[in-house]
Amino acid sequence: MLKRRATILGATGSVGQTTLTLIDAANKAGDAEIEVVAVTANSKVEELAEAAIACRAEFAAIANPHAGEELAARLVGTGIKSGAGPKAILDAAAMDADWVMAAIVGAAGIEPLLVAAERGADIAFANKECLVCAGDAVLEAMERGGGKLLPVDSEHNAIFQVFDFERPHRIRKLILTASGGPFRDRDPSTLTKITPAEAVKHPNWSMGAKISVDSATMMNKGLERIEAAYIFPVDKDIIDIVVHPQSVIHSMVDYVDGSVLAQLGTPDMTIPVASALAWPDRINTPAEQLDLTKVGHMDFYPADEVRFPALRLARESLDEGGLATCVLNAANEVAVAAFLKGHLPFLDIAGVTEHCLEKVRSNNAGSDLSEILATDKLARDHAWQRVEALAGRA
Ligand code: NAD
Ligand code: MG
Repeated sequence: MLKRRATILGATGSVGQTTLTLIDAANKAGDAEIEVVAVTANSKVEELAEAAIACRAEFAAIANPHAGEELAARLVGTGIKSGAGPKAILDAAAMDADWVMAAIVGAAGIEPLLVAAERGADIAFANKECLVCAGDAVLEAMERGGGKLLPVDSEHNAIFQVFDFERPHRIRKLILTASGGPFRDRDPSTLTKITPAEAVKHPNWSMGAKISVDSATMMNKGLERIEAAYIFPVDKDIIDIVVHPQSVIHSMVDYVDGSVLAQLGTPDMTIPVASALAWPDRINTPAEQLDLTKVGHMDFYPADEVRFPALRLARESLDEGGLATCVLNAANEVAVAAFLKGHLPFLDIAGVTEHCLEKVRSNNAGSDLSEILATDKLARDHAWQRVEALAGRA
């Protein structure tokens, strides 16, 4: 029987909700005994309180410091303790869960993740921005803590399932599959008028707003290349990207003898979350079973760095090293937020990121947290200035 004490950082988000639903289903089916220690969110008080009550968490933390009173009021009589402000999120991460789902979106998730990693929790990694921004610091904290790193991003989870960690030198290539997002076939000249509503509508996956926009620009796959370079002990130059619109093969490992191992499944995040929750065991999930006769055929295309410049920017910043990937991530977060608010045209997202990569040079190898956070802030400031300059132009 699977037994865990679990904390969900980012419990109100798409991955957080998938995790809580799965835990509930596994407990009810008698497949597992999973106690929820803490749940956290940014500002959705009502959703957080509901989630905390439904999973009988011990503690609920909201990042917005002004939301503390309302959260406490909603939890009166439940016995669930609560806290507010960024420190409360760190307190949640510090509690004694042995499994922590890192599902906060963006670099805001770094510090809570480091707290959980340092104290030795197994970490289910959804938050790719943490690795892109602070990969060395995160891996060093994991090493010191001794917990397991369990990838949740579907591509990395797929590779993790077929990766020979004892013989990484026998691997010729890691092949990340990409759906190509909603604009894979669109005439590029029509992309100027893309609205946030169109960009967040992903053809295969249902996800949070930021990652959906990243999928539309294909920055998501660029970030995943960097994420893979940190997670797997291989040379970054053997990581390839292939467009596979059906999202049935979630990624592959190509071995020196010509064997290519893949993990397949329906495009449902329940599957990689379940894999990270139960690993190395497996549990039942309500995910739809894969029926290859219904899939019929699968297509594969090369990834196009000209149509999707974000792919090139991510590859170049990984090649550059130092904190270039931190700059890439921070600038992209700002540009995506500006796009979602209607302040930046879709096609300028990559432009803002490229501008920041040129302006903010950081050659320091980065595992020092204060340096990482300073670089992240500098890149954000440059990105906002660029967004404002472009808005003034219009
Ligand atoms: P989401 O926007 O749906 O949820 C984000 C969560 O983070 C929410 O609970 C929110 O309250 C919390 N949060 C946001 N800002 C915060 C802050 N400043 N402080 C504390 N908490 C904060 O996002 P999502 O789609 O669930 O994605 C979460 C992470 O998982 C992202 O890094 C994403 O790239 C990754 N991921 C998601 C999917 C998916 O299917 N959604 C797939 C692979 C990887
Ligand atoms: Mg992914």
